[in-house]
Amino acid sequence: MTLATTDTAAPPVKAPPFGKFFLPGPTEVRHDVLHAMTQQMIAHRGKGIEDLMARLAPRLQQVFRTTRPVYTSTSSATGLMEAGVRNTVRERALCLVNGSFSERFHKAAVNSGIAADKLEVPYGQYHSPDMVGDALRKGKYDVVTVVHSETSTGVLNPLADIAKVVHEAGDIVLVVDTVSSMAAGQVEMDAWELDYVLTGSQKALALPAGLAFCAGNDRVMARARQSTRRGLYFDLLEFDEYYKKNQSPNTPAVSLLYAADVQLAHIEAEGMEARWARHTAMAERTWSWAEELGEKAGTSLYAPAGYRAPGVTCIKVPASKPGSAVASAMKAKGFVIATGYGKLKDDMVRVGHMGDHTMEELDTLLEALREVLTA
Ligand SMILES: *Cc1c(COP(=O)(O)O)cnc(C)c1O
Repeated sequence: MTLATTDTAAPPVKAPPFGKFFLPGPTEVRHDVLHAMTQQMIAHRGKGIEDLMARLAPRLQQVFRTTRPVYTSTSSATGLMEAGVRNTVRERALCLVNGSFSERFHKAAVNSGIAADKLEVPYGQYHSPDMVGDALRKGKYDVVTVVHSETSTGVLNPLADIAKVVHEAGDIVLVVDTVSSMAAGQVEMDAWELDYVLTGSQKALALPAGLAFCAGNDRVMARARQSTRRGLYFDLLEFDEYYKKNQSPNTPAVSLLYAADVQLAHIEAEGMEARWARHTAMAERTWSWAEELGEKAGTSLYAPAGYRAPGVTCIKVPASKPGSAVASAMKAKGFVIATGYGKLKDDMVRVGHMGDHTMEELDTLLEALREVLTA
């Protein structure tokens, strides 16, 4: 299936034309998906919601590449990061930190009263499996947290290989944030033996913000049963109990579920491999564009070759063109891109080539960005 360059349904509200909004989350949402949210409410205990949740279930499993149930949470992704550590850690977690979101994982543990250490590499770097294996040899840890695609730096961690060394090191559960990689690049929950995987609605799934999805294998559910810290709202056992009835533990964001119903049909029609290929092509186009522009504009890619995320590219900018000024100049041309995240605000700009964007739209954006960077 080829994606239409422009969305055929008229926007439900006054909106700029599709294809100008390139944040690395939230991403632009198709107009028919937005329309779906204007349907009337239904009871969250009853046949209507059960039919809806039953339609979502197999498609979410296809996205996660798992036979495990995928739970839907009315929360942002951070809630399910917190769920990941609260339900699984027995004694101590090791948090792989290479940017702002992986830093947040550590904070989610510490703020939940969980002992956690960081294994830090400088922002812009990845974690090598050897380094992770060495850190686990001391035997102190029963959980490892990792962010697959660090949205603050554009770095993609070698997840499949990290999973191998984690499992070789003993009874350790791997808790994975795939918020900006799920549905953008290859993520194989079952084949890579990822114990717990979470993602959010507003990145490469191209849904509105406000939903998050997660799945855990048997080891994770066994840990959850023993956990005294799992709380209520993010208790995986609660999610599982209601999942069996095609319901959710609490009142879900029904409107967002309507949106997910429409968007997951689009994703299913495109196919996961095709969706990954489209993102890879857009990512590679952005990298070669940035490298070509480098000498002339003083720009460079923040992430090293071989470890670049499929959904977001971070482009270092010279001091004469701070990230905030570049983003403003792009705004004046009708495009939305991101500055650097947090302390890296003016060091870079970030282009989110994720969701339902096409190569044509990306080329138009990159042409505008070239004008700004070489002006
Ligand atoms: C956006 C993002 C988050 C946080 O998601 P929220 O939905 O804002 O809670 C976490 N991790 C990564 C890698 C992200 O890109």
